[in-house]
Amino acid sequence: MTTFPVNGQTDSWPYFQAPFSENDFRLLFTQHPIPMWLYDPVSLKFLLMNDAVFQFYGYSAEQMSKMTMLDIRPEYEYERMLAAIHAENDFGKPQIWKHLKANGEIVEVITYGRRATFNGKPAILAIIQDQTEIRQARDEISQTRSLLDNLIKNLPIGVFVKDMKDNGRYVLFNEAASSITGKEAAHVIGKPDDQIFNEKDASCFIRQDQHIMDNDSTLTIENEIPLHNYTRHVRVVKRTIPAQNGERPRYLIGLMEDITEEQALQAHLTYTAMHDALTNLPNRVYFSHHTAGLFSAEKTQQGHALLFLDVDHFKHINDSIGHAAGDALLCQVARRLTGFLQPQDFIARLGGDEFAIIHPFDMSNPDHRQEIGRFAEELTDLFRQPFHLDGSPEYVGCTIGVVIAPYDGQDIDTLLRNADLALYAAKADRRGIYRFYEQAMRDAVEKRHRTALELHAAMQNNEFVLFYQPIFSLTTDLITGCEALLRWQHPTRGLVAPDDFIPVAEDTGIISAIGAWVLRQACKDAIHWPEKIKVSVNLSPVQFNSRGMLDMVKSALEESGLPAKRLELEITETVLLSNTEHNTELLFELRKLGVSIAMDDFGTGYSSLNYLRTFPFDKIKIDRSFVSDIDNDKRNLAIIQAVVSLGSAFNIVTTAEGVETQEQLTRLKDEQFGEVQGFFTGRPMPQQEMCDFIASRDIGNVLNLKKHSKNNAVK
Ligand code: C2E
Ligand code: CA
Ligand code: CA
Repeated sequence: MTTFPVNGQTDSWPYFQAPFSENDFRLLFTQHPIPMWLYDPVSLKFLLMNDAVFQFYGYSAEQMSKMTMLDIRPEYEYERMLAAIHAENDFGKPQIWKHLKANGEIVEVITYGRRATFNGKPAILAIIQDQTEIRQARDEISQTRSLLDNLIKNLPIGVFVKDMKDNGRYVLFNEAASSITGKEAAHVIGKPDDQIFNEKDASCFIRQDQHIMDNDSTLTIENEIPLHNYTRHVRVVKRTIPAQNGERPRYLIGLMEDITEEQALQAHLTYTAMHDALTNLPNRVYFSHHTAGLFSAEKTQQGHALLFLDVDHFKHINDSIGHAAGDALLCQVARRLTGFLQPQDFIARLGGDEFAIIHPFDMSNPDHRQEIGRFAEELTDLFRQPFHLDGSPEYVGCTIGVVIAPYDGQDIDTLLRNADLALYAAKADRRGIYRFYEQAMRDAVEKRHRTALELHAAMQNNEFVLFYQPIFSLTTDLITGCEALLRWQHPTRGLVAPDDFIPVAEDTGIISAIGAWVLRQACKDAIHWPEKIKVSVNLSPVQFNSRGMLDMVKSALEESGLPAKRLELEITETVLLSNTEHNTELLFELRKLGVSIAMDDFGTGYSSLNYLRTFPFDKIKIDRSFVSDIDNDKRNLAIIQAVVSLGSAFNIVTTAEGVETQEQLTRLKDEQFGEVQGFFTGRPMPQQEMCDFIASRDIGNVLNLKKHSKNNAVK
């Protein structure tokens, strides 16, 4: 065997000097992991092969010694192979070939060819490098790359990258970036901003980029890009791409998002949050927004009237014609109001059937209050024409509470509260009108509030007392009963009349506790009177709502030992106005106990006569307003006469309240009224006095009572 110096230069092996023996060299060749062989360029036969060749191609040494270079190639490579050998261009530079393994597998290899000599004859050394894995890896990389390219290309957000070491030229600009900016990628890539955008935009972008590069920071910018017929809103986030090895960043990446729709949605959401869905008017949120800081005294010349408008009997429409009609009504109201208002006026729907209007006015105009009054009146006039609900005309009014800022308040909460009070006062007065707010309204509310607090203490401190007023029969001239009338012995205000606190007690619900006490106390007191004298106790409609009313009456009777027939309960028609079925049932239950039921204040309500059919009352008490003018007003006399006939027809006792004069008494007796009660026949008095009164007048004649009445001048 011999050496095979490459290129025939036997002496040019600087690294393989002795002690590197030929044996070592052979070992290196045969055991080298890379396949290598020597072949004869003429016969193309293999001359010498290393072990890696057998392993790689799958042939044995024996097989290969009989094979030629062509046998390890697919046929289509023959020609190129032969041409390469012939042209001798296979040497010196690597070539890519397809080789054929023993198992038929075709692999890609790179061969490095070198001229050599073998046994004194020219030979060629070939070193084979398997390309399959490298190719696979490369394929994978290129696949990944194309995946990434595809991804970036198809991302719904615009992506661009600029090379900041190359004057900020664009190296990447995806499709979304193109469609957002309207610039083609081909026009952008490779150019810096000042060759793409106008001077103003470009210099702005360059400044931003400089800032980002200098501070290695992130910048979020929102831009408006004018396109043909609309403006696009774009959000761009720019930042550096961190470099490896701690070097300064070179690239700048930008992410671009079209936020036109997002902003439109945001605008829509803001609109819906600020507007009432039904009428499209500004809602309460918008109203607070609009009025914030509006009324401060600093804007001296400009005042604002706040008109708090409430649709009359809206609940009635809703309940009777239905919610759809109610909605339609509100929309028509909203349209009518907006149609009337001037651009400087502001209207909002605060909820339900409540609307608020802000009407600016000139404070230097001395007649501004009248002007506002006219404005409010015009608003109520808008409701004179009917609304059209379900095709039929419907007349609906409105009531308005008016406050004037800054006089009636400088913040919206105070103004709204005061407007509410004015509205409340207007409604109590008469619907379909407007009322200005007055300080007295607030004082009354505050007084009510104080009273409500004090009533609880009063209950605990036993501050309530009962007065009794005698009721006389006009046929027997005897006392038939006494009405229990509540008084409040207030620690500072003295004796307080029921009209001053009962409405508050009713509002707060404490009337139930107070009423229970009244009933128990009245029964206990009545036990001390002669058996023929009844006790009349007033019941509030609110008491009918509390479940235990029946039991309360029973236990008051049991506790005191008073026979049920000596108790009379006085109710007003309000009891029959609401929750009629339940309340009528309760009245029958009470009647079953044996107590009698009187209708109080007869004639003051809406349909007193109707109620006489609902429940068979034992007594009608005609209101004192009919008695007071009995001599002068013929109509009052007519009513008195009518009640007398009613009483006899229905077999109901009739009682006249508020008898203050001898004349009234005589008249009532002449008209054959059943009973009388009034200051003339006996003022309300405490229990002890009542006992004395009864004792002194047990057999007395009513018509002779005049001389005694002065002594009982206690209310
Ligand atoms: P009412 O039931 O109509 O009671 C009659 C009222 O007329 C009493 O007023 C009585 O003092 C007054 N009065 C009687 N005779 C005359 C008269 O000749 N001239 C005038 N001007 N007034 C006369 P009072 O005691 O102030 O009670 C007012 C109202 O308070 C009562 O009206 C009743 O509705 C209510 N009330 C009184 N006590 C109670 C009670 O214990 N419970 C409930 N729920 N209400 C009560
Ligand atoms: Ca009464
Ligand atoms: Ca009465």
